[in-house]
Amino acid sequence: MAYVISVVNQKGGVGKTTTTVNLGAYIAENRKRVLIIDLDPQGNSTSGFGVDKSQIENSVYDLLVNETPIKDVIQSTNVKRVDLCPTNINLAGAEVELVSAMSRETILQRALGTVLDQYDYVLIDCPPSLGLLTINSLTASNGILVPIQGEYYALEGLTQLVDTINLVKKRLNPGIGILGVVITMFDGRTQLTRQVVEEVQKYFGDKVFKTLIPRNVRLAEAPSHGMTISEYDAKSKGGKAYCALAKEVIQRTKI
Ligand code: ATP
Ligand code: MG
Repeated sequence: MAYVISVVNQKGGVGKTTTTVNLGAYIAENRKRVLIIDLDPQGNSTSGFGVDKSQIENSVYDLLVNETPIKDVIQSTNVKRVDLCPTNINLAGAEVELVSAMSRETILQRALGTVLDQYDYVLIDCPPSLGLLTINSLTASNGILVPIQGEYYALEGLTQLVDTINLVKKRLNPGIGILGVVITMFDGRTQLTRQVVEEVQKYFGDKVFKTLIPRNVRLAEAPSHGMTISEYDAKSKGGKAYCALAKEVIQRTKI
């Protein structure tokens, strides 16, 4: 059965999508079957895999709102052993449309349940908010991966995130917990970033992955070519870092 990971931080632009796409690609290089779910209406992980958002037949919106079976939403990607549930801007309406739906927090969990035996890992790229989409993700997950950008306000808002996780744990998914915290866009040359890393370690202890993801322009370029870093430039610092992170994640989840 797949281990399901929510990539969550309600703060925007901290590296959720970059982490989901590239971690997913490198986990698959370790001969694991991976399903990526793009749960952000911006659809950045969809385009990160080179999928044209205007050509999607069934999207995560159809899955959540129209109850389209997940097998009809899943498509393959250019990356071996990686499948994708793609998303376009339609998903932006889902939070509102689902307000009166029955058991609206567990739709994704129920849908995923039907394909968990076909994958080793499911990675869910969450939007930068703690709304219903993120709640669906947390409810469907075994573990949470929190990307934190190495910058001054990094820890701001994390109490709110931890409160939300605790609420989901109490009401919807008693098994959920933080799998790990990954520092992104790390720039070891600045004292500030090093201080932030220390603070994050103080707050999260051994939950913090040893691998630091460096600030690396190749990571920012890859999505504009519709490629993961493993396809675009595996030898880059960013590629090597996500490769190392994948090994740590596999080790920590022991599959
Ligand atoms: P959002 O909250 O909007 O979904 P996000 O948390 O998913 O954002 P990303 O889209 O992954 O964040 O990253 C934000 C921007 O920073 C993107 O332009 C991305 O290409 C760039 N970026 C992410 N990680 C790195 C890195 N390690 N080095 C350089 N650029 C990066
Ligand atoms: Mg994103």
